[in-house]
Amino acid sequence: MESRMHHRTHLTQSAEWRARSLRHVWHPCTQMKRQATLPLLALSHGTGPWLVDMDGRRYLDGISSWWVNLFGHANTRINAALNDQLSRLPHAMLAGCTHAPAVELAERLSILTGGALGHCFFASDGASAVEIALKMSFHAWRNLGHDQKREFVCIRHSYHGETLGALSVTDVAVFRNAYGPLLGHAHVVASPDARTAQAGEDALAVAQRAASDLQTLLETRHAQIAAIIVEPLVQCAAGMAMHHPAYLRRVRELCDQYSVHLIADEIAVGCGRTGSFFACEQAEIWPDLMTLSKGISGGTLPLSLVLSTDAIHETFYDDQIARGFLHSHSYTGNPMACRAALATLEIFDTDDVLARNRDRAAVLDAALAPLQAHAAVHHIRRTGMIWAFDVAADAGFGQRYASAALARGLLLRPIGNTVYLMPPYVLDDDTAIWLARQTLAALDDALEHH
Ligand SMILES: *Cc1c(COP(=O)(O)O)cnc(C)c1O
Repeated sequence: MESRMHHRTHLTQSAEWRARSLRHVWHPCTQMKRQATLPLLALSHGTGPWLVDMDGRRYLDGISSWWVNLFGHANTRINAALNDQLSRLPHAMLAGCTHAPAVELAERLSILTGGALGHCFFASDGASAVEIALKMSFHAWRNLGHDQKREFVCIRHSYHGETLGALSVTDVAVFRNAYGPLLGHAHVVASPDARTAQAGEDALAVAQRAASDLQTLLETRHAQIAAIIVEPLVQCAAGMAMHHPAYLRRVRELCDQYSVHLIADEIAVGCGRTGSFFACEQAEIWPDLMTLSKGISGGTLPLSLVLSTDAIHETFYDDQIARGFLHSHSYTGNPMACRAALATLEIFDTDDVLARNRDRAAVLDAALAPLQAHAAVHHIRRTGMIWAFDVAADAGFGQRYASAALARGLLLRPIGNTVYLMPPYVLDDDTAIWLARQTLAALDDALEHH
């Protein structure tokens, strides 16, 4: 009796937080009218790969809280660094001042690129890093006397964030359509998405065909084009569209040939997500500008940054103030966020994360093997720690799948009819096997209950 009473109190609490949230919190990426019918998860705390709601129910965070969490919620090593920094210097401006966390992070990232990207510009959200990279590219060409290079190229179904500049190089209709009149023009070239293979083509052939589409554009238009922005190896928001690294190699060659900057948006795919620390490493190339965010702070604090070549930095280095990059954000280089990033990089160093992820991936691959025989499932694919498959079903499938997964204690949010797993890098074998079983069971729930 007593335990039932206890349970009821918690249920009331959860419902109450939901109602209060809907009264005053405007939730992101949400039609609020529909949210009222789909219960919000009212969270109390997190531990490892698990989120715990106000009723004490656990949910496995199968998508790393929108792709940001690497080493679990409330990670003790990252928290220790944050507590230390909190008592020293939570924040100070980075114009006219500097501090060890920003310096050390910029140094370490430069080393991770083998010195190819020697300077680091800090911001807060991924979209602001994309804005910075676009402005830097344009301004660098302008500083070199090429004012006419002011156009950008993006890839079919690309996603680079929701602010106006980032949205201008985003090709996802649901995010763009309402704001079309406000957006700049960008050239959209073919995607190397391996799923678009035509008869007789493999992933390499798709990559070559997509690259030749870019070549055709650059042949006629390179004098006006400042940069192309790409999501290396996986276009995540497009529904985990994966491509052959040969695409990136060919894009690098074309950018060199036609004097166009290559911007690699590694906001989602960086920090080990694709199996190497940077996705670009698998193509053995470096971009001119690289954006990082999401996982770089281990999923604890908003941090984004743009890494640039020293050559681009050099074009701004001048006696004239106006030739400098006069961009800023109030929290640029926030010491807490930089410390979280340093603690995250430290874990990569000490725990051999990339090798251990290969073992984790093998366990999950084996546990997901029954998918191969599932009649409704096609395009089963994986790059590093990203798994995805497409399901032949009606348009309501994704929502039904999310509800079915949640009922099984698994937080997943399909993109259209693509189910994907992007778990934190702290799954033990048992949890990985449990994750695979629930993923499969939720599939049958969502297909049967229709
Ligand atoms: C998430 C994402 C962004 C935008 O980052 P925000 O922090 O949401 O602004 C940009 N590019 C890619 C590839 C992303 O996945």
